[in-house]
Amino acid sequence: MSNRLFTAFACLLTLATCSFCACAQTEIPAPIPPSSIEESSVEQIPAPLPQEISPFWNDAGVDLSKVRTERKLVALTFDDAPRNKLENLLAVFTSFNENNPDCHASATVFCNGNLLDEHARTLLHTALVAGWELGNHTQNHLDLTALSTQEQRFEIDSTDALLQTVDGNARHLLRAPFGRIDDRIRALANAPIIDWTVDTRDWTGVSAETIVREVLSKIYAGAIVLMHDGFEQTVEAVKTLLPALKSAGYQAVSVSAMAKAHACKLRNGSVYIRARKRGKA
Ligand SMILES: [Zn+2]
Repeated sequence: MSNRLFTAFACLLTLATCSFCACAQTEIPAPIPPSSIEESSVEQIPAPLPQEISPFWNDAGVDLSKVRTERKLVALTFDDAPRNKLENLLAVFTSFNENNPDCHASATVFCNGNLLDEHARTLLHTALVAGWELGNHTQNHLDLTALSTQEQRFEIDSTDALLQTVDGNARHLLRAPFGRIDDRIRALANAPIIDWTVDTRDWTGVSAETIVREVLSKIYAGAIVLMHDGFEQTVEAVKTLLPALKSAGYQAVSVSAMAKAHACKLRNGSVYIRARKRGKA
């Protein structure tokens, strides 16, 4: 489960607007160390900085070939995965995409390392082929703020390493369990931290109709929707949501695809509740 009213309140207190784009984020991390800048400036043709010290999320490999620029974009995200409904969710997306090739839908799935057995990784590979993005929801779904820095490092790095065996990427967007974040996590994340615009609270047992109503009443271009793997009502809601979103002019895409399509350059270590076009209020 990934939301608490406390967290939402804390986010409201700390949100600020990124100076580079209209992404909503909480804090700009420390700039590149001066020593790195000096090193590159002495060369006639500066070498590109290693990704490890770039302040920005590397979106070079994010595929936008199926993103329809005439549509409003929204990111559906599924936490606590992979569990027993991911296969059903993938089937719903596949069915929708077969019937709506002009509005290809995908999502971001935030995974827990302790769930990534052989079968789970096979499922995630299927998701990857379908255009989904894999995100890091930590190894054991603990409150990271209650851990030592070494333990935080393990929770993030071990899941990144497991996900790398599926998608080949060394780093993944991070969603902290319960949305609990502190300065130490921001400093060591090495990736953008993704919160949400709309919390469906699907894990509380609300009906599919309630989930659909909540999403459709609160989304806008650039919104990020929080849902979870493991609940039948979520699967049922998505069956309704995908065609409803299309009818309302939206396309469901991954968080990274939405940010890149919106020219929203995500910063590693910053917290985002949405990613939308420059200049949009
Ligand atoms: Zn969670």
